[in-house]
Amino acid sequence: AKEDGRGVFRFFEPSLDAAARWRRQVELDLRAAIQAGQFVLNYQPVFDLKADRIGGFEALVRWHHPERGIVPPAEFIPIAEDTGLIIAIGEWVMQEACRQAMHWPEHIRVAVNVSPLQFRNSGLQAIILQALAHSGLAPDRLEIEITESVFLDGEGPVIALLHTLRAMGIRVALDDFGTGYSSLSYLRSFPFDKIKIDRSFITSIATDPSAAAIVRAIVDLATALDMETTAEGVEDTGQLDLLRGEGCGNIQGYLFSRPVESGRIAGLLENRISR
Ligand code: C2E
Ligand code: CA
Ligand code: CA
Ligand code: CA
Repeated sequence: AKEDGRGVFRFFEPSLDAAARWRRQVELDLRAAIQAGQFVLNYQPVFDLKADRIGGFEALVRWHHPERGIVPPAEFIPIAEDTGLIIAIGEWVMQEACRQAMHWPEHIRVAVNVSPLQFRNSGLQAIILQALAHSGLAPDRLEIEITESVFLDGEGPVIALLHTLRAMGIRVALDDFGTGYSSLSYLRSFPFDKIKIDRSFITSIATDPSAAAIVRAIVDLATALDMETTAEGVEDTGQLDLLRGEGCGNIQGYLFSRPVESGRIAGLLENRISR
């Protein structure tokens, strides 16, 4: 009877069934992955142009699936969000990133992506405090990266929590800036420490005058609001030169380095890009 039921369902809704079964399988695999510890963090340097050295690393999660190999976050973070599993994954990411950062020189920060569902979960503050306490990492070496979608379910509670975290010394960055519908309005709602200019603007900065004008305006705005800037997705020296000219403070992208495993961080700390 079970087989019949499945057969009938598949007959009427073949693609929906396949998609639903795929998501269900990823969900089951994710649950197992959390138990088995199949996640690793890679780290991408954020290069401070004025100091001419690496100022921090962004932690980026990877899933080492036993059969499928390395699964990029775009393929599982959305499912982890829908199923609530991002809470457990995010807690592990926070713990691991803080623990790892303790091995780095003291001036180097770690940036951790925090997803909207983590903000809706009442335990986020305790999770961050515990990660700091367990690792011994100074709060001002931790930067959380949020996108404006965290505000969609109601700004008030999120902003209250951000103020609490910031009062503890934790830094707050606004990720993917410029891609949302009301990026500007959120700059009035909270004193972010940093704005990360979305890669889509950087990609065309050298070829599209309007992209260049937008980047210039974002950098000027950030400067006026006393916020730092990081350009995301910098891939060539033409982009770098333009960003330097506009006064952008930090760059992140394949030009300087792809995300690397923790064992390669020491080597990266030697690099310079001044010319
Ligand atoms: P994001 O936070 O915007 O992270 C930047 C993404 O751009 C990373 O992709 C990085 O590898 C990629 N990238 C960096 N430089 C370049 C470049 O020069 N060119 C191009 N084409 N790409 C570049 P990744 O690691 O695949 O992560 C994708 C997204 O997954 C992240 O976007 C973030 O939204 C999410 N994510 C990653 N790790 C975590 C995590 O631990 N927690 C949560 N909640 N989300 C995460
Ligand atoms: Ca990010
Ligand atoms: Ca981003
Ligand atoms: Ca993104």
